Amino acid sequence: MAGCTRKTGIFGGTLDPVHLGHLRSAEEIIDAFGLHEIWFIPAARPPHKDAPAITGFQHRLSMVRLAVSGNPRFRVLDMESRRPGPSYSIDTLRELNRRYGKSHDFFFIMGADAFLDIEIWKEYRKLVDFCSIIVMSRDDTLYSEAKAVIARAWPEYTSPEPHCFNCGNSGRIFFQKVTRLEISATSIREKVRRGKSIRYLVPENVREYMETNRLYTQELKENNLEDNTEYSKPGPDSARAVEIARAIHDNKGEDIVVLDIRGLSAFADFFIIAHGRSTRHVEGITGKIRRSLRDKKIRCSGVEGESESKWVLMDYDDCIVHIFYEPVRAFYDLEGLWADAPRLDWQEAQGAENPSSARAGG
Ligand code: ATP
Repeated sequence: MAGCTRKTGIFGGTLDPVHLGHLRSAEEIIDAFGLHEIWFIPAARPPHKDAPAITGFQHRLSMVRLAVSGNPRFRVLDMESRRPGPSYSIDTLRELNRRYGKSHDFFFIMGADAFLDIEIWKEYRKLVDFCSIIVMSRDDTLYSEAKAVIARAWPEYTSPEPHCFNCGNSGRIFFQKVTRLEISATSIREKVRRGKSIRYLVPENVREYMETNRLYTQELKENNLEDNTEYSKPGPDSARAVEIARAIHDNKGEDIVVLDIRGLSAFADFFIIAHGRSTRHVEGITGKIRRSLRDKKIRCSGVEGESESKWVLMDYDDCIVHIFYEPVRAFYDLEGLWADAPRLDWQEAQGAENPSSARAGG
C-alpha cells in the first residue's frame, strides 16, 4: 500500500435500503480519519443472505445513488454486479487495489456487529493485505469481543495505542466511536410492510423512490419479478454489441439477451447474456465466439470463469459477455438484477434470421 495518496473509505453491505444510520456514520468516519471520500459499494449477491429475499440490485443501487447525491465526498460504485458469483469483500478489495491501488489507500468500514462475524468471511485474514479496517461502534460494549476476534484472526497484531491494532506493513484495524442511530434496514422494511411511516429514517428522495416503486410493501419475490421490460433500437453505437450477439447466435448460444446498461453503469455499455445446455457447451461457445470475433478484429481483453465453464465472463471493453450454464443463469438472474435496463433489439439489426432463438428469454 506504499505510495498511496487518496484516503478512501469503502462502505459495503446489502443496503436494503440505505438509511440515515449508514450515511451519518460514514460522514463521521470521513472527519475522524481525514478521508478524501467514501465509496459506497452495494453487494450484488450478499454471500450470507437468502437471495430471493433481497431487493433487486438495481433498486438498491438507485436508492444509494439518490441518498449520496449532493454529497461530494460520497460516491457509488456498481462493481459487484459485474462479477460472477457471490459478492465477497475480499474479491472487491483485490479488484479495487488492482485498479486504484497506486493512487488510493483503502479503509474498509464496517459496524462492530458485522466485525464480530468476520471469521466466516471468505479469506478474512487476507483483508488487511488490501486495506485498513475501521470498526464503527456507538460505545465500547463490543470492544472486548472484537479484541478477541483480532487475537484469533490476526494474532501477530499488537495494540500500541487503545483502539488501534497493527502489524508491519499490513493494514491497521481501528475502532471508532460514531453516533450510531438506532436504525436498521430490517426495521425500515418491516415498517413499510406494516404501513408505518419511515420519514426521517431514510433521505426523503429514497423514501419517494421506495414509494414510487412500491418497494417493501409486499413479498419481495413478487416485487423483484415485476416485468418492466423495455426494448431499445440498435444504432451505430451499439454495433459492437450486435456483432457479438450475432457471433453468439452463430455459435449456438441460446436465449441471447443484450441489456443496454448505458446510464446505469459506469463500467460498461452492454451486457450480453446467453447460455449453453452443459458446461461443455459453454466451453465450446466461448472458445468459438472468441475466435470468430478475433477474426473480425474484435478483441477480448479478459476472461473469467473459463476453467469451470458455469459462468464465463468475457470483457470486450464497453460490452461484457456472460455465457452461463443454463441452471446457473437462472440462479443468478442477471436480467432480474438489471431489470431497469432496456433490452437491445439486436435481431432487428441482423434481419430476424432466427427470431425464436434471438428473442427467447426476453
Ligand atoms: P439489515 O437490517 O438488513 O441487516 P443493516 O441496516 O444492518 O441491514 P447493512 O446493509 O447490512 O445494513 O449494513 C451495512 C453496514 O452498515 C454494516 O457494516 C453495518 O454494521 C452498518 N450499519 C448498519 N446499521 C447501522 C447504523 N444504524 N449505524 C451505523 N452503521 C450501521
